[in-house]
Amino acid sequence: MTKIANFPPATLEWKKTNRGLHIPVPEMDEHASAPLTCYPCKAKDMQAIALPTARVPQWETRAVEKLQELLHKYRGLQVYLDICAQCGACADKCQFYLGTGDPNNMPVARANLLRKVYRYYFKRMERFAGAEAEPFNEEVLREWYTYFYQCSECRRCSVFCPYGIDTAEITMAAREIMAAIGVATKYVTEVVAKVYERGNNLGIPGPAWIDNCQFLEEELKAETGKDIRMPVDEVGADVLLVMPSADNFANTDTMMAYGKLFYALGVSWTTSTYANEGGNFGLFLNYQNMKKVNRRILDAARELKVKRVIWGECGHAWRAAIYTNTLNGPMDFLDPPHPVHICQFTADLIQRGAFKIDKTANDDVLVTYHDPCNVARAGSLLEEPRAMIRATCNKFVEMPANTIREKTFCCGAGGGLLTDELMPIRMAGGKPRAEACRATGATYLATPCAICKAQLPEVMKHWNVGVKVGGVHDLLSKAMIL
Ligand code: SF4
Ligand code: SF4
Repeated sequence: MTKIANFPPATLEWKKTNRGLHIPVPEMDEHASAPLTCYPCKAKDMQAIALPTARVPQWETRAVEKLQELLHKYRGLQVYLDICAQCGACADKCQFYLGTGDPNNMPVARANLLRKVYRYYFKRMERFAGAEAEPFNEEVLREWYTYFYQCSECRRCSVFCPYGIDTAEITMAAREIMAAIGVATKYVTEVVAKVYERGNNLGIPGPAWIDNCQFLEEELKAETGKDIRMPVDEVGADVLLVMPSADNFANTDTMMAYGKLFYALGVSWTTSTYANEGGNFGLFLNYQNMKKVNRRILDAARELKVKRVIWGECGHAWRAAIYTNTLNGPMDFLDPPHPVHICQFTADLIQRGAFKIDKTANDDVLVTYHDPCNVARAGSLLEEPRAMIRATCNKFVEMPANTIREKTFCCGAGGGLLTDELMPIRMAGGKPRAEACRATGATYLATPCAICKAQLPEVMKHWNVGVKVGGVHDLLSKAMIL
């Protein structure tokens, strides 16, 4: 098995070339310790999310059966496995390869871990013709568990592949197969179990959620002198807002910005203690849990009789939200009958002159913007956050062109990797984002994603980039005249 280089690769330097910014890949250290892996799941969490509590009997056979099932269900998966030309165009496009130098973190090599098993069982002619193939066994499972949980499912590699092969889909299939045989990570399974128990990823109980909302109302009163509400479980409100639960607890400036926004508009809104989470870690585990987590939001919307659901500042929440009609629709009891992201909602209102804004309120910072993978590449929201920043700030600078918009680098912790035991991988994977940010000289890094907001302050500190990380709505909040 390939080993991961010792961390940190402190000699990495970001170089300017005539093809944009470029990171030299670190040398692998042949004597490095064993590859980093996530802590394994606990039986109680697996039980709570309807997955096997231990490795199932005849797990090798069961895994191959699951692969066959997925090949039938997702024809794109079979196409991705069949058409790769092994050209290598994707090889240096993954932040985890750039950061670690581990060849198994090249997207093509990561995909080959599953492709070899696919060939062994389903492509015998290719196998006899000499194509690399191997049976599913303990050693292969260990490699899958390591490297499919060192992929953040960010899809950056797919932008550079001449065939559009999406390695994230291959990662998702591998994780789904592993989950079916009782193999998953503690972090991801624990988070999904918390959603079923308490309604949100952080496990905040309903009374604590309400307390936090009341505290934020007091903060808003002290700041503005106005009675700005943070409503919870209000039947008949116009809008159900499903933000990342971290906004209630950690990113409170963003949460207070939502309060100011609806106050200024005179629109009634609410959060739900049953579904107070936009994030959906089912996306990082298996289809059934993604569907079930998503369904809670529509159930809450029906229960509270709201007219519209808006998803807050979260990346993977938005990616999962886009699938809502397919997973649990139709959403025809809502207007519009499709998901709405808070940046779409706000940017549209700004354009229509709904707010009084004093841009000089943000003159103390030079702002740059990080496109979260799932907001930009997967969610097509490239212009809305930028329109918001331009409307609320005088000083805005973009990061280098080959690191933004659909080519954005992952923060290094998406896809279920935001867990302490992966810290070296997270810091290495965050290096490209840190260096692109450093190149701007910005003092405020705006991003509409709770995972990015948790990861990037650590990354910036680790790589000595002096920038504050915060939300896009936080800037509006500062500039809005109530
Ligand atoms: S999806 Fe992202 S993290 Fe996964 S291999 Fe591709 S570039 Fe790397
Ligand atoms: S760029 Fe596409 S075709 Fe080339 S190796 Fe990567 S996945 Fe395969």
